[in-house]
Amino acid sequence: MSKKSFRVVILPGDGIGPEVVAEATKVLEVVAAASTDIELKLEAHDFGGCAIDKHGLPLPESTLKACQEADAILMGSIGGPKWGVNSKVRPEQGLLSLRKALGLYANIRPANFASDSLVDNSPLKASIAQGVNIIVVRELIGGVYFGQRKEAGVAPQEDTAWDTMIYNVAEIQRITRVAAQIALAADPPLAIHSIDKANVLATSRLWRKVVTETLQAEYPQLSLDHHLVDSASMFIVANPRKLNGVVLTENLFGDILSDESSVIPGSLGLLPSASLAGAPSVADYRSESFKATPGLYEPIHGSAPDIAGQGVANPIGTILSAAMLLRYSLGLDKPATAIETAVRKVLDNQDKGGEGFRTADLGGTVKTKEMGEKIVEVLKGLL
Ligand code: ATP
Ligand code: MG
Repeated sequence: MSKKSFRVVILPGDGIGPEVVAEATKVLEVVAAASTDIELKLEAHDFGGCAIDKHGLPLPESTLKACQEADAILMGSIGGPKWGVNSKVRPEQGLLSLRKALGLYANIRPANFASDSLVDNSPLKASIAQGVNIIVVRELIGGVYFGQRKEAGVAPQEDTAWDTMIYNVAEIQRITRVAAQIALAADPPLAIHSIDKANVLATSRLWRKVVTETLQAEYPQLSLDHHLVDSASMFIVANPRKLNGVVLTENLFGDILSDESSVIPGSLGLLPSASLAGAPSVADYRSESFKATPGLYEPIHGSAPDIAGQGVANPIGTILSAAMLLRYSLGLDKPATAIETAVRKVLDNQDKGGEGFRTADLGGTVKTKEMGEKIVEVLKGLL
């Protein structure tokens, strides 16, 4: 049988980006080497601050073209003090252009404990935080961030500024379908918690109606409830398990709730994210009709200039991003789960049969490379 071939573009970026991406790349190579029916073609491209230094702009034409032709993209992190707010061209502009060019309207951020042995690192500690498994699905290219606005100091009403929040049915339907596919990709399927402010906002009332109708018509097997955003943000601190499942929400609320929920597991270095231009590819990748869902995968942390070059960054957020890439863009659920299991075993305390490995952000002394190598070693036994 001929192997199914996928193109994965790697954007190491700046700061700790290249260090954490190197470890995630090893993980992807091990997955490909162990498979008899898939081939991963990995190619690195310049993006972000390093691309500004080399090409004068953060998203060179050649990088954009490679991303547009790829099945999925794995990114490290971009930016740093060298290309600060006063620079003419900034790395972050490249990321906004890339998201827009690829139509990445769905942002997915799981907030869970890669291992329950990490619960002591959580600001919410064991009693409240243990067993949290929240995946935030945020609409990324609509709503108030993209509506018309007027700045203050501009005629006719100089003392007035406004922003407009707009959503239409199609935008809400497509993000609802992404949330549903993510809920279904888990076994058993996850509950959906839709978040809005329907007691005040017209967009929220449309949101609630369309989410309800779409799920009833297309995914009646999924459980759905609705929360107001103020009460949801309270639950995330008071009792996050109440929101276990997929938290589906629009752009502004999702921005706030995804940051709030990402502190539960205790370190920025642990968490992955995905931005998708379609519902996840849950169909069988071996079928002729299978088409990868293009997506950009990255850890939620930034380029961490304070620790760059020291080899101490936690690579787990990037390694788990590679797992999401396999599951959501390439339809490869088994190796994705194997990566997550390997990460958990390496983090689990020794009394739970794990390795108890901790990088500096988790209070340990394990280096970036050691962490990556240990995960690869455990993963090889699982594939
Ligand atoms: P950005 O603006 O790019 O999001 P930021 O200033 O918000 O960046 P980060 O670059 O993510 O934040 O860094 C915040 C803090 O977390 C820093 O002290 C950094 O060292 C630490 N940190 C971030 N990522 C990691 C990681 N993978 N491993 C260890 N520490 C990390
Ligand atoms: Mg930040």
